[in-house]
This record gives sequence, C-alpha cells and structure tokens, in this order.
Amino acid sequence: MSNQYTRSGDSLDMGTQFQMDELNSKNGKDGPVPQRYILIVEDNGDMRDFLRRVLARHGYGHLEAADGIEGIEIAHRDHPDLILMDMSLPELDGFEATRRLKADKTTQHVPIIAVTAHARPADEKRALEAGCDAYLSKPYSLREFIDVVQKFLPSPVAIG
Ligand code: MN
Repeated sequence: MSNQYTRSGDSLDMGTQFQMDELNSKNGKDGPVPQRYILIVEDNGDMRDFLRRVLARHGYGHLEAADGIEGIEIAHRDHPDLILMDMSLPELDGFEATRRLKADKTTQHVPIIAVTAHARPADEKRALEAGCDAYLSKPYSLREFIDVVQKFLPSPVAIG
C-alpha cells in the first residue's frame, strides 16, 4: 500500500529509450513517465502529501514509508534512487534507520537526505555522522528542497 509505483526488472532498456525520446521531444508539458524513485520516509501524512505532489511535478516517482522500520523494508524491496529521511520518526528514528541502510551493502550506495528539526542544530551533525549525505532543516523552502534533490538526482523534466 505504501508504494505507488512498481518497478519492473526488464524495463530498463525500453525505459531508457523512452526517456530519451521524451527528452528529445518538444512536447514536454506533461513530462515523461517517472523514471527515478525517491523514497519519502516521513511520519506526517500532510507532509508526505505535499512532498509527493512536488516530486511528481518535477517528474520523479515516489515511494512512501511512515516510520523507520518501514523505510528500511521499502528501501530493500523497491530500490529507490534517493531517500528523503525525516530524522524524527516512530518505531525507529531516522538516525538509526540511516545507520542500518549505510551499513548494508545492498542499500549503502543510495543517497540519503536528512530532514532535521530547526530547533535542534546538533541534529545536523548527528545526521551526517549517521551517514546522511546531506540535510535540510525545517522549515525549508521549496527551492532549497528541489536544489538538494537535484544535486543527487537531476530532474527528468525541465524546472519551470
Ligand atoms: Mn517526524
């Protein structure tokens, strides 16, 4: 129920061709079918809805998890290209979830962007020590969000 899209193992060649066709076409209004998947690990449903819409608008596919345990499970099962990790989560917090993902050979290559609370600056240092590749502190602007996502995963559609 958490993942909205599934990836098919044999679609890589066709998918790449499709993406190139889309990029070469002038009809970019609707954007290409999502090719890259960002896992949103966030316990706040409103925030997940918001992030899902922003990512879709920029041509990214998404996966969702509401706690750290589920985040790890989905990262293993669905192989996201990037993980957006809220640090304050039920079950298992984002620090420990990140440590586990970065200690595991099958997931350690996936970039993790930490989302930390602005009221706790020490969390930024902790997030990097846990293995996060970058962080965003709340509240962040839409521009900051897209910039950091694009740094790790260039958008498949033009940003307008
Ligand atoms: Mn939270």
